[in-house]
Amino acid sequence: MLYLNGEFLPASEAKVSALDRGCLFGDGVYEVVPVYSRHPFRLEEHLARLESSLATIELPNPYPRAEWARLIHQLIVMQDFDDQSVYFHVTRGSAYERDFPFPANVAPTVLINPTPLITPSAQTKASGVRAISHVDFRWLRCDIKSLNLLPAVLMREAARRVGCAETVLFRDGFLSEGAASNIFVVKDGVVFTPPKSHLILPGITYDVVIELCQNNGVPLEIRAVAEAEVRAADELWMTSSTKEVLALVELDGLPVGNGTVGPLAQRLDALYQNFKNQVMRS
Ligand code: PMP
Repeated sequence: MLYLNGEFLPASEAKVSALDRGCLFGDGVYEVVPVYSRHPFRLEEHLARLESSLATIELPNPYPRAEWARLIHQLIVMQDFDDQSVYFHVTRGSAYERDFPFPANVAPTVLINPTPLITPSAQTKASGVRAISHVDFRWLRCDIKSLNLLPAVLMREAARRVGCAETVLFRDGFLSEGAASNIFVVKDGVVFTPPKSHLILPGITYDVVIELCQNNGVPLEIRAVAEAEVRAADELWMTSSTKEVLALVELDGLPVGNGTVGPLAQRLDALYQNFKNQVMRS
């Protein structure tokens, strides 16, 4: 079951207009919240980021935060699986005329669609995954979680074709993030990650991992990371709501460090799992 514009429907029956601006222009924003044993993780933070994405594109938020939370909780109990990935988006609706400026008096399209959550298996966590790199050819507002996902589609497809799970992006000689994840770099026991800016998505998992480093005495520096530092790293990890903390053990065919999942990746993954379980129990 999903939610579309005020109705709860089976996915097969959910239809939007062919002229939806999400479809024509990517004119909308989205979120993905992981749900463990029917408990959404960091929902408030995802809703806050949605508010910020909506405000940035001047699309009025269709619901107050409490209403979003109510709808999401209502949908979570309707599913027949416990661990869920709750996708939701708001587009600027559909107007008869295909014109770029905002249309007047058009209702937004609201979709909330939970699907089974697929996190990396224990085996994938233990072996890590391979990545390629690419120049970051995206725009300069990567802080907006926008529906314009063609760069991520092309970058993840390029990775998939060569048996890799992620594409690490560099802009002007510096690390930005992954195609659909944030990136952390380890060198000599210190964790590095780029600061929030218009060049990266402010990841919810990124925030959790930073907090976990800070609260557990793991040395961390939030600063610009040069491409050469990434290529000379002892460890690389990608983080996202669905991949959690996942080690990258190969970049462009070369081993990262000694080519196995490093001690800090293991530690942060363990801290993340522990934190997640604690939050879910409380
Ligand atoms: N950066 C990009 C470009 C992403 O698409 C994502 C995940 N959708 C992330 C970072 C990670 O964000 P989060 O931890 O909130 O899932």
